[in-house]
Amino acid sequence: MTRPEALIDSHGRVMRDLRVSVTDRCNFRCMYCLPETEAAHNFYRGRWAQMPSPAPILHQWQPKSAILSYEEIERIVRVAAGLGIDKIRLTGGEPLLRRDLPKLVERISAVSGIKDLALTTNGFLFPQLGKALAEAGLQRISFSLDSLDKGNFKKITGRDGLEEVIASIRLAKDLGLAPVKVNAVIIRGMNDHEIEPLAQFARDQDLILRFIEFMPLDSARAWLKELVVPGQEILSRLQKCFQLEAVQSANLSETAKRWRIDGSRSEIGIIAPVSEPFCGHCNRLRLTADGKIRTCLFSVTEHDLRPFVRGEGSDAEMEEFLRAVVWKKEPRHRIGEPDFVPASRSMSCIGG
Ligand code: SAM
Ligand code: SF4
Repeated sequence: MTRPEALIDSHGRVMRDLRVSVTDRCNFRCMYCLPETEAAHNFYRGRWAQMPSPAPILHQWQPKSAILSYEEIERIVRVAAGLGIDKIRLTGGEPLLRRDLPKLVERISAVSGIKDLALTTNGFLFPQLGKALAEAGLQRISFSLDSLDKGNFKKITGRDGLEEVIASIRLAKDLGLAPVKVNAVIIRGMNDHEIEPLAQFARDQDLILRFIEFMPLDSARAWLKELVVPGQEILSRLQKCFQLEAVQSANLSETAKRWRIDGSRSEIGIIAPVSEPFCGHCNRLRLTADGKIRTCLFSVTEHDLRPFVRGEGSDAEMEEFLRAVVWKKEPRHRIGEPDFVPASRSMSCIGG
């Protein structure tokens, strides 16, 4: 088979979506991502008891010199856009920690071919930055919100920030970043009792809420299958409380199955990568803050773009490199299978 010009892999999937991590730093310590708090230790106690003390945290902050500059990110986005990428999502770590983020938003908005520019954030710093981000051209935003209970929010994220995040969601709506999305990672024994209240919140606040299954991407590798609440279970619980009408999407690469709630404009979606993998339609690539391309969340190898943006590499050489890397994209993840190999980095370092 000859390799075509666009970013297509050997399984026929065409890449359209690039997730750009702008920092590996974070101001939260979510249990399912960067678990470092006492609450996380207590929650994972059975699992962590088998590990050397303290439990191993796999992430290592990258030195500032390793992190891509805005010029370097813009160049990579421009080259990727020339190869058919039309959707960019800025993420991290916590992207709002990166200084002058609106400047990057402005640069990427101006790249020809980029039709959709979104941001995923924990929302804590959004009140200070929201207006500038919207003015710079940000089109859509997703907030992470796993609990509506102040105490549980703190237990999960390691920070006292529920009020700030709720205020940020309100502000995003006021700024016209609609429809505002909220992501909730559901973990058994931690926040599964909040599934219905979270859906009610989405219903009342006109939001799009995505329930996400817990994936083995936490920095402590404390993930257990038993902690995953399968999407089907979430759905049957919601069906008992709400009238859910399935929303069909023409976009096969969409990760969420979606339902409108009670005839309202609000929606819930379920992203079930563990119990119902959707790898067959994956059109996503990831760029880490230190310039590595990852073709799958669960990749065990990464592909360094820094020599191209910091060395002598031409755009044409970068294109050829990207095509070659994408061609070898993993067919699927193997979560829960005996030969599953954990990803080489945790979610906060990869960029979710
Ligand atoms: N800090 C930002 C935030 O929390 O929205 C952006 C980065 S965060 C890594 C991106 C998304 O990944 C968040 O919605 C978070 O809930 C999700 N996430 C992190 N670890 C996860 C895990 N182990 N399983 C499933 N989703 C996870
Ligand atoms: Fe939580 Fe996002 Fe930070 Fe991970 S990167 S600890 S999900 S806020």
